[in-house]
Amino acid sequence: MCTFGFIRRNGKTLVFKNRDNDFKHENERLERTEIAGVKQLVLMDGNGKYEGMNEHGVICVEGTLKPKNACEFSSGWPHFPDFLTAKTAKECVEKIEATPKISSSFLVVDNNEAYLVEKVPYDMKRKKIEADQFVAANSSQLLDGEGAQEGGYGAWSKTRLENAQKAIPGVNTEEDIIEKILRNHEGKEEGLSICGHGEIHTQSAFIYDPEALSVNHCLGKPCESSFSVEKL
Ligand SMILES: [Zn+2]
Repeated sequence: MCTFGFIRRNGKTLVFKNRDNDFKHENERLERTEIAGVKQLVLMDGNGKYEGMNEHGVICVEGTLKPKNACEFSSGWPHFPDFLTAKTAKECVEKIEATPKISSSFLVVDNNEAYLVEKVPYDMKRKKIEADQFVAANSSQLLDGEGAQEGGYGAWSKTRLENAQKAIPGVNTEEDIIEKILRNHEGKEEGLSICGHGEIHTQSAFIYDPEALSVNHCLGKPCESSFSVEKL
C-alpha cells in the first residue's frame, strides 16, 4: 500500500517510495547486511519487511497488489535478500519471475534500466520503463491497462496515482520529490492523499540514489519528520 516511482534527470536516477499501511509496523529501521557476498542497505521491521538497495546500485521495492481476479496478496519479503544479490535490475526481475508463490508488484531500478513487475499466481507482467519518470500507486494494475481499480482501496489508489502523475513532470531534484510527491496532501480531507493521514497512513519515506549508494529517508510521516542520509 504505497506510492513509488523514479526520475532520471541529467543521467542521475532517484527512486522514491512512501510506505503506507493500515497498521503500525514496529521496529522499522535501515540496516546494512551482506548476503552471498553482496552488501545491501535495506529497510527491515519486526514483521519481516525487507527491501532496499545493494552495492551494485540495484533497487527493489514492493507494493501491495490487489488484482482484479481475487487472490491473496503474498509478499515477496522472504525472497528479497536473494533478489538483492542481483548485479543488474534485469537479473533481479528474473529472480522475481522465477519465484512462484508471490503475488505483488515490484519496481526494480538500477543506473541504466527500470522495470515494473506485476505478479499474481495466474499471471505475470513485466514492463521495461523507458521514460525518464514514472510513478505508481499500488493496487493499480497498470500493466493490465486497468489503471487503478474501483472498490476496496480503489479510490485511494486512483486519487494518489492521479496526483502523483500530475506532480511528477515538475520534479527535478531530491527536494522536489520530498515536497511535491512524498509530502503531497491533495485529497487529505478525504483520507486519499499521497502522504497518508487517513485509515491508511504513511509511516516512512525513502529516496534511493543508486549512483551514490545512499538512501535519504525518514521513519515517520514525511510531512512531520526530518530526512537523513545513510550510505551503504
Ligand atoms: Zn502528511
